[in-house]
Amino acid sequence: MSVQAVAAKMAEVELKDVAGKDSLPTISPLTPKAEEKKSENNSTSSPAAAAAAGESSPMTAAPNPVKMPQASAMKRPDQQQNGGEAFINCDGTVAEAPRMKKIQFADQKQEFNKRPTKIGRRSLSRSISQSSTDSYSSAASYTDSSDDETSPRDKQQKNSKGNGDFCIKNIKQADFGRREIEIAEQEMPALMALRKRAQGEKPLAGAKIVGCTHITAQTAVLMETLSALGAQCRWAACNIYSTQNEVAAALAEGGFSVFAWKGESEDDFWWCIDRCVNVEGWQPNMILDDGGDLTHWIYKKYPNMFKKIKGIVEESVTGVHRLYQLSKAGKLCVPAMNVNDSVTKQKFDNLYCCRESILDGLKRTTDVMFGGKQVVICGYGEVGKGCCAALKAMGSIVYVTEIDPICALQACMDGFRLVKLTEVIRQVDIVITCTGNKNVVVREYMDRMKNGCIVCNMGHSNTEIDVASLRTPELTWERVRSQVDHVIWPDGKRIVLLAEGRLLNLSCSTVPTFVLSITATTQALALIELYNAPEGRYKQDVYLLPKKMDEYVASLHLPTFDAHLTELSDEQAKYLGLNKNGPFKPNYYRY
Ligand code: NAD
Repeated sequence: MSVQAVAAKMAEVELKDVAGKDSLPTISPLTPKAEEKKSENNSTSSPAAAAAAGESSPMTAAPNPVKMPQASAMKRPDQQQNGGEAFINCDGTVAEAPRMKKIQFADQKQEFNKRPTKIGRRSLSRSISQSSTDSYSSAASYTDSSDDETSPRDKQQKNSKGNGDFCIKNIKQADFGRREIEIAEQEMPALMALRKRAQGEKPLAGAKIVGCTHITAQTAVLMETLSALGAQCRWAACNIYSTQNEVAAALAEGGFSVFAWKGESEDDFWWCIDRCVNVEGWQPNMILDDGGDLTHWIYKKYPNMFKKIKGIVEESVTGVHRLYQLSKAGKLCVPAMNVNDSVTKQKFDNLYCCRESILDGLKRTTDVMFGGKQVVICGYGEVGKGCCAALKAMGSIVYVTEIDPICALQACMDGFRLVKLTEVIRQVDIVITCTGNKNVVVREYMDRMKNGCIVCNMGHSNTEIDVASLRTPELTWERVRSQVDHVIWPDGKRIVLLAEGRLLNLSCSTVPTFVLSITATTQALALIELYNAPEGRYKQDVYLLPKKMDEYVASLHLPTFDAHLTELSDEQAKYLGLNKNGPFKPNYYRY
């Protein structure tokens, strides 16, 4: 069953308990009426209509609007700009662009029983993949289990039903975790709607999903939704720091096979992944990955499993790069969905999420007053636009640096002063990088900053600020708070460096649940689509989500705002050459 068909079924079930149900279109935009469905293949023959129907070429006649765009037509260039991503070599080994640490995939026999010492664990974790250490630290456990030094691997735990097929920190934290999950449910309306809409229909019946994502309350809402849709799930964490232990406990108590805890060693990390897939009598047929580590573990250790796997859904930039590289090398043996590049993810993660979390991250770490402060923001892309808007609204005086004249002009038209960093570096109170580039703020600039200047990064990893250049003998580092360092010059001047140049919001604040809801809904729909797709619809390639699915994800979130969507009249639809139920924009539309 395709997502369209599922959506059609779902639309039939009334959304009785969902807030603002009246504002949800009674006919899902993913659900063309029968006659419209029929006419789609025949009527949208004009180039404009074809383009509007989401076809990659506006010259293509008779498009099928639900046809998945071929990834080959959308392959991303190697993202030197983003840099530091992972690549699969022809021999199947994984390497990364120079700016990121090399990922080790243990081709050798994995010796899980050799437990590292505490120090060993720490040093091991440094060689782990970047995606597994870029942490949503604030999402991590609220409960303190630091007194319990026993490794979860040495514990025999069972849930209240006697099931022990999990490995987590402490099953006794389950009640607390359940409350966290319930709080997250409030801000994840689309997943809750999917559960209700699919009460009768189980579009994931028979699906055996192995997942490797952050294990947080929001992920728990996703997992429980997948389960409600009929799937069985086994899950490991994609990040050694980000697991909310109490949430993992609640999931284990609920019967999920979860293998994760906060502060895993590298050995633990791979052991947990292995426990998810290396199990008697259970083989996954779908993969949901964030970072690509799970996918590659299966490639390396259990390649035969791919015979049964129907598809991979990947969320992260890094993981998507790995998939494209596999595809390029002709080694991708199942279809994969690139969730990272769907419009809803890009727009909401980069723009709206950063618009909110930049203030949160700065406030939590420094208690700085924003009004009247001079701030320079490097890069006016999606992230930069979000940061600028937030700080402007707080009364800061905002300067922007850009290399691209189009973004630069946008900054000017939005009322920001476009400058070179050198022009303002002596006077600004806060410097924020959001370029995806490297060495945007170098030592020379930091030497010239004024006393007390706050320096932080919202862009790619820890490449944008040249932090290494600050580790010289004449400078003193003073850790003043968690994630806050004062770097002190010989004359007493100090700058305030946040999160050692890593992403400020992921290191020091929370990510809004509503944003995660959008991504999680997209993941759920991508799984449904791949799982139910008829043989041959998807080849062994990487696909972007159809625009209709993006639109559907957005429409599921509208009732939260009691938003009332205008419907096209027949006449208007004809005039624009659109199907009344979408897609409403061509693929090249920029939003
Ligand atoms: P983008 O490509 O839309 O914007 C980056 C901008 O920086 C571009 O306009 C580019 O011209 C400009 N730029 C490049 N080099 C520059 C330089 N030396 N000086 C000034 N400007 C320069 O990308 P985006 O979506 O805004 O993402 C930016 C970075 O943030 C990426 O690395 C992305 O992975 C990361 N990101 C962070 C978060 C977060 O939560 N912190 C969320 C999404 C993306």
